[in-house]
Amino acid sequence: MKKKLTLVILGSIFISYMILLIFTIVNMRTMGTKGAEEKAEIAAELIKTGLTSQMVNGTMQNRAYFLKKIEKLPNIESLWLTRSTDLEKQFGKGLNKERKKDSIETEVMNSGKIYKKFLENSTQAKLRVTMPYIASQVGNPNCMHCHDAKEGDVLGTVSMVIDISDIRSNGLSISLVIIVISTFMMLIVFYIINRSMNPLLSLFSSITSVMEEAKEGNYSKRVKTVSDREEYKNVTFGINSLLDKIQDALLEIEKTVDSFLTFRKTGKRDILIELKMLINEISAIHEFKKTIELDENNMQIYKRIGVILQERFKLKDFIIVEANKKSTSGPKIVFSTYEKTISEISPTCRALRTKQAVDSGTFTDICDQCFNKFKHYLCVPYVISNDLELIIKIGTNERKIIEKAKKRIGQFKDYINEARPEIVSKNLTEILKISSNTDPLTGLFNRKYLDEYIEKAIAQAERNDIHYGILMIDIDFFKVVNDTYGHDVGDIVIKELAEILKTSIRKSDIAFRFGGEEFLILLYNCNHAQIIEIAEKIRTNFEKKIITMENGKTFSKTLSVGSSIYPTDANSIWKAIKYSDIALYEAKETGRNKVVQFEQKLLKNNDIDILF
Ligand code: GH3
Ligand code: MG
Ligand code: MG
Repeated sequence: MKKKLTLVILGSIFISYMILLIFTIVNMRTMGTKGAEEKAEIAAELIKTGLTSQMVNGTMQNRAYFLKKIEKLPNIESLWLTRSTDLEKQFGKGLNKERKKDSIETEVMNSGKIYKKFLENSTQAKLRVTMPYIASQVGNPNCMHCHDAKEGDVLGTVSMVIDISDIRSNGLSISLVIIVISTFMMLIVFYIINRSMNPLLSLFSSITSVMEEAKEGNYSKRVKTVSDREEYKNVTFGINSLLDKIQDALLEIEKTVDSFLTFRKTGKRDILIELKMLINEISAIHEFKKTIELDENNMQIYKRIGVILQERFKLKDFIIVEANKKSTSGPKIVFSTYEKTISEISPTCRALRTKQAVDSGTFTDICDQCFNKFKHYLCVPYVISNDLELIIKIGTNERKIIEKAKKRIGQFKDYINEARPEIVSKNLTEILKISSNTDPLTGLFNRKYLDEYIEKAIAQAERNDIHYGILMIDIDFFKVVNDTYGHDVGDIVIKELAEILKTSIRKSDIAFRFGGEEFLILLYNCNHAQIIEIAEKIRTNFEKKIITMENGKTFSKTLSVGSSIYPTDANSIWKAIKYSDIALYEAKETGRNKVVQFEQKLLKNNDIDILF
C-alpha cells in the first residue's frame, strides 16, 4: 500500500514537473526565435534606411562597407542582398551578392512574403530569414523617387542567417536549472507528504492485519499505536475497545453456550461461526425436547431420535437398542434403518457390558456378538438411568461410514442428555402401568388388565373377523400342595405353571392369572384343532414337570383345561369365558388332568344365558 502510494505521488510530481519543463523549454524557444526574428526585421529595416540614404546621397557604391558593418552585428552570421529583374534592368547587376541566389529568394520576390526557417543540428541552431523590399509611395523620399516601379513591386530581398545556438544553449541551461530546482522541490514535497502519510499508512496496515485476523476468527489482535497525534490515538483506541467488547462478549456467550452443550467442534475455530452453529444446535435440541415432552411413550421418542440421526446427522445403517434391566425379554431393537431385520441383540453386547463405545476399527473381532456379521461396526452406549441404557449400533461394510459417524456421534449426546429425563419419566410411567396390570408372582397380566385388554381386542376382532380360542386352566387338588408342603411351595408350583404357559403360547396369544391357581389364555385366531393342541401341550408339559423342594423331595401335579371359541360358541366374550369355565368344571367332574372342549350340552340349564 505504502509502495503504491509513494509511486502515485512520485509519478504525479514527475508528470507535472515534465509538463512544466516542456512548457518552459517551448516558451524559451519561442521567445528566443521571436527575438531572432525581430533582430532580423530591425536589421532589414536598418539596411533599407541605410541603402535609401546612400542612394539619396549618391554613395551607393560604398554600400558593401555598410553591409559588412551590419553583418558584424552579434549573431548575424551572413547577410546578402538580391535585386529584382526590374532593378537589375534599371541599375545593373549590382554587387556579387545582389543576385538571385536561390529558390527561396525567387519565391519571396514573387510572393512578397517573408520567409523564415530554422536550421538545426546537434551542435548548431540557425535562423534563415529572407525579407522582401516592397516599393511604396509613402514617405519622403519614397521608393518611386529613384525606382521605376509601381506601388507593391518587390524591389529586392535581404537575406540573413542568424546564429541562435546561444538562445538554444541558454534555454538548455535554464531548463537544467529548472530541473535541479524542481527535483529539489519534488524531494522536499515527497519528504513532507511521506512524513505526514507514514503514520496514516502504518495505521491502515495495522487495521488491515487486525481485520484479516478477525476474519479468520482470531479476535485477540489489536491495532498498534502509530503516532502520538490525537486523531490517530482516537482511531486506535476506538477500534481496540470495540474489539475488546466483541471478544469479551463472545467469550461470555461461549461459556454460557458450553454449559448447554457437551459437544464442541474442534479444528480451526472462528468463535463467531461456531457460536452461530451452537445456537442453531441449541435451538434444534430445544425444539426436540419440546416435541418429545408431548410424545406418548418411549417408542415414539426412540423413533424421533432415529429420524434425527438419519436426517440431521446423516447417519446410515444403524439401529437403536433399548436395554432395560427390569425387562425380562432382554435388549430390544427400538429403531432400525436396515431393510432386513437384524438378529436379536445379545445381552452380552460389549458396549452394554463395558458402557464404552466399541469400534471394530480398534481391534479385529473386538466383539463377537450381535453386529459381527458386518465388516465394520460402531456401538455407542448412552446410560439413561441405573436400569436403562440406549445403544446406537452402526453396522456397515464401508469403513468411511463408521469414520463419518464417529465425527458426529458425539454431537448426539446433547440430544440424549435432553431426552434422558423424558425417557426416564416415560419409562417409570410404563413400569407403573405394567405393574398395575401385572401379577407380581407370575409376571403374567392380571384380571384387571384382562378387563382393559378384552375391550380393545374384541373390538378389533369383530372388525377383522378374528376368532379367539379361550382356555381356562386350574391346577388339580392344589389345596393339597398348600396343606402338605406349605404356601411357599404352592407359590413355586404356580410360578412353574406360569412359565410353562409363557413358553407354550405364541407371541400373538396372551395369558392372564385369572384367580388363585386359575389361568385364562386368549389364543389369537385359532381353530378348534389348534386350541386343543395348545391346551394339550400345556397339560402334558405341566404333568411332566417335576417340582423339587428345598429339602430335595420332588413331586408333580396335573391340571385341567376347559376351552371355548369366541364368537363360535358365544356372541359375547364374557359368555365365551364363562363357557370355558363350564368346560373346566366338566373336566374336574370327569376325572381331572384333561382338556374339555365346551359343548352346548354342557349347559345344564339356561340360567347362564340370562346373565349375559
Ligand atoms: P380342584 O382340583 O377342584 O381345583 O381342587 P383344588 O384344591 O385346586 O381346589 P381349589 O381350586 O378350590 O383350590 C384353590 C386353592 O388355591 C385355595 C387357595 O388356598 C389356594 N391359593 C389361591 N391362591 C394362592 C396363592 O397365591 N398361593 C398359594 N400357595 N395358594 C393359593
Ligand atoms: Mg384347583
Ligand atoms: Mg381353583
